[in-house]
Order: sequence, then C-alpha cells, then structure tokens
Amino acid sequence: MEKIKMKTPLVEMDGDEMTRILWQWIKEILIEPYVELKTEYYDLGLKNRDLTDDKVTVESALATKKYGVAVKCATITPNYQRVEEYGLKEMWKSPNGTIRAILDGTVFRSPIIVDGIAPYIPTWKKPIVIARHAYGDIYKAVDGKAGKGKAELTFYDENGERVTKEVFDFKDGGVVCAMHNTDKSIESFARSCFNYALAVKLPLWFSTKDTISKVYDGNFKAIFNRIYETEYKEKFEKAGIEYMYTLIDDVVARIIRSEGGIVWATKNYDGDVMSDMLATAFGSLAMMTSVLVSPDGVYEYEAAHGTVTRHYYKYLKGEETSTNPVATIFAWTGALKKRGELDDLPELSAFADKLEKATVSTIEDGEMTGDLVGLFKKDGVSPKKLNSKDFLQAIAKRL
Ligand code: NAP
Ligand code: MG
Repeated sequence: MEKIKMKTPLVEMDGDEMTRILWQWIKEILIEPYVELKTEYYDLGLKNRDLTDDKVTVESALATKKYGVAVKCATITPNYQRVEEYGLKEMWKSPNGTIRAILDGTVFRSPIIVDGIAPYIPTWKKPIVIARHAYGDIYKAVDGKAGKGKAELTFYDENGERVTKEVFDFKDGGVVCAMHNTDKSIESFARSCFNYALAVKLPLWFSTKDTISKVYDGNFKAIFNRIYETEYKEKFEKAGIEYMYTLIDDVVARIIRSEGGIVWATKNYDGDVMSDMLATAFGSLAMMTSVLVSPDGVYEYEAAHGTVTRHYYKYLKGEETSTNPVATIFAWTGALKKRGELDDLPELSAFADKLEKATVSTIEDGEMTGDLVGLFKKDGVSPKKLNSKDFLQAIAKRL
C-alpha cells in the first residue's frame, strides 16, 4: 500500500514520562505504516527544556503560529520535587501556560464516547464540550505574601494619572493576588465559542460569577453579550441553537440534570477544574480530547491528561503497564484531520477518521486498557485488559 503524503509539516511537540513512551508507539504502530509523516519536531521533554533554558517551548509555539497545526504530548510542569528529580536549573513554567500565552485562544475539551462505557450521570446521552478561555486570570497573576501592612492596587494610565484602591489592611500576615485579562483576549474567546457552537450546532452556555465579581466577571459577561447581539444572534437563530448566559453555580446544577449536547464556555480556572470533573464523569481522564483554537485560526491538539507518572515508574522497573493511549491517539487524528482539511488532502483526513473509528471499535469489541475494564458494560461482550502495546496492535488490526 502506498503511504499517504503530506504537504505542510505538523508541529510535533514531544513530552515526558509514560506519554512520551506511548507517543513513540502510536507513531510506529498506527501512523507511520500508513502516512509519510512530515513533522517539525520539538522536544518539550523536561530535560531538553532545561538544556535550552525553555527556549524550545517558545520556539514550538512560534512554529505553530507559522504552520497552523500542532500536536502535543503531555509534559511535566515542574514543582520543587521535579527540580530535584531532574537537577533543573530553574523551576520552569508550565509549557501549556507558555504556549497558551503565545497563541491565546480557547481550549475545547470533549469526551470520546464509546458504546459500553456509560457516563456516571445516567441522564447524559450526548457529549458536553468545555470551552476554556486559555489566557490570563490566576494563570498570569502576580501574587505574594503580605506581612502586617496595607496592600493596594494601583493603575497608571498612559497620561500618568493613577487610580489606587485598597485591597486589604493586614493586621497580621496573609496573601495577596492581582490578576488581569484583556478585552481583546475575551473578545476572541467569545468569537471562538460562538463559531465552535455554530460549527457543531450545539447550544452555548457561558458562565461566570458576575454577581460577586461585578467588574471583572461583569466585563466577560458584557463582552459576550455585545458580540452575540451584534455578530451572532441571527446566525444562532438560523441554526436553531441558543446562547445562554448564567451564573457558574447555576450551570453546574443544570449540567448534572441535562442530557448533554452542550458547549459550556468557562473562564480559565473554571474550565481547568470542570474539565477534569467532566472527563471523569464521562468515564476516564484518558478519554478526553483537547484542542487549543487561537483567534488567528491556529490549532494545537493534545490529550487532556498528564504524563501518568505512576505508570511510568512501573514501566521503568520493567513492569507491564496498561496506560490508555486513546486521548493521545485522538490528538494525532485531530491534527492530521485539520492538516488534511487545510492542505486539501482528503485522504489524510479520511485516514484520521478511520483511525478514530478503529480505536473506538477496538474498545466496543471488548479489548481495552485497564482503566476502562471496570467501567465497561455491554451485553455479550466481556472486557479484556490489554497492555498499552497490545492495545495499539489490536487497533492496528482494524485499520
Ligand atoms: P495524570 O498524569 O493525568 O495522571 C493522574 C492519574 O490518572 C494517573 O495516575 C492514572 O490513575 C490516571 N490516568 C491519567 N491518564 C491516564 C491514562 N492515559 N491511562 C490510564 N490512566 C490514566 O496527572 P498527574 O499524576 O497529576 O500529573 C502527572 C504529571 O503530568 C505532572 O508532572 C503534571 O505536571 C503533568 N500534567 C501535564 C498536563 C499536560 O501536559 N497537559 C496535564 C496535567 C498534568 P492510576 O494511577 O490510578 O492508574
Ligand atoms: Mg485541570
């Protein structure tokens, strides 16, 4: 069989630990036999980030801007323990944080639905997509410890005028935090959410806590409303879908009793937390895809989970692991499909579709990784636990 050729390279961002191992196997077993893979490779593994003073992360994000599509492996965000473990020069920042700050945009996370793995919430019949604003708030905050004394927030405008507000008058020690967002980023967040909802023809719910955070969250609400009224209202009505703004508490309650089939737009922190809850409630953290869509139409695909450290230590000891590669496979298929679409290569997109279907039907036929075995219930099919490599080979048999 002749391999499918690519035109433009994909930006490939390699990562850490167990997902770095899976990354290699996915390429070898599921992609390279069928596609003449063309990538521009960036090693975002922690060792190389340290070696390059984290420049490699910035370079990979800039390459993504240049080519338009990237696929990223999970990476370690170092903490004190990692600084010791890897003998790091510095506690480097989260690569995802760095990449999102450069690309801006919105992260869309949606569960991979498989027949046989029922969500924990019995009413959920359709996927719930989280659209997470990927810029600012606590992820770009300045914080610090306060002793006895007064904390103030001062804004100097371009003419040198200043406005100061007292944050708190500390009688003893405490903590302070100042965060920001920009109208431009919120506007592009709003547009990507409206566009995404229209593309998938699902209603859009947007939530903040504007009753408490009247100016900060109130600004998010106002921008979404203005853009909806002036640019999207008619399109939504035509498509027969609704836009609803409501409080985050209200959405949390509504989501639980909904039947799914919703795009839920959230601020940065809400999306961080709620996407882990949704992923777990839909079955497994390893069955959630994630794509960052930037305002200038750049796409970065990844799995929503981390580097699965616990499994990696077992792997290093020579023990067999059954780590689920599905979300990482879908990161590759998402990126290949998008590359196919942009480069007018329908055979590349068709291959990616086929790989997704083969992955889903492998599980539906009863062959899966350990995390799914306890969740799987389907008449006439008894689930069988495979190690990661055998699972990938079981998928390859269906290609
Ligand atoms: P994690 O890697 O997502 O793993 C947490 C636990 O979830 C695992 O121990 C495992 O449970 C289960 N799990 C997650 N993915 C799985 C998969 N593919 N197959 C089977 N089970 C899976 O999160 P973490 O342990 O909190 O973080 C590990 C490292 O990943 C950290 O250094 C963190 O900085 C990094 N991280 C990176 C990203 C990213 O790059 N996007 C995101 C999150 C975390 P059991 O152990 O019970 O089997
Ligand atoms: Mg999270």
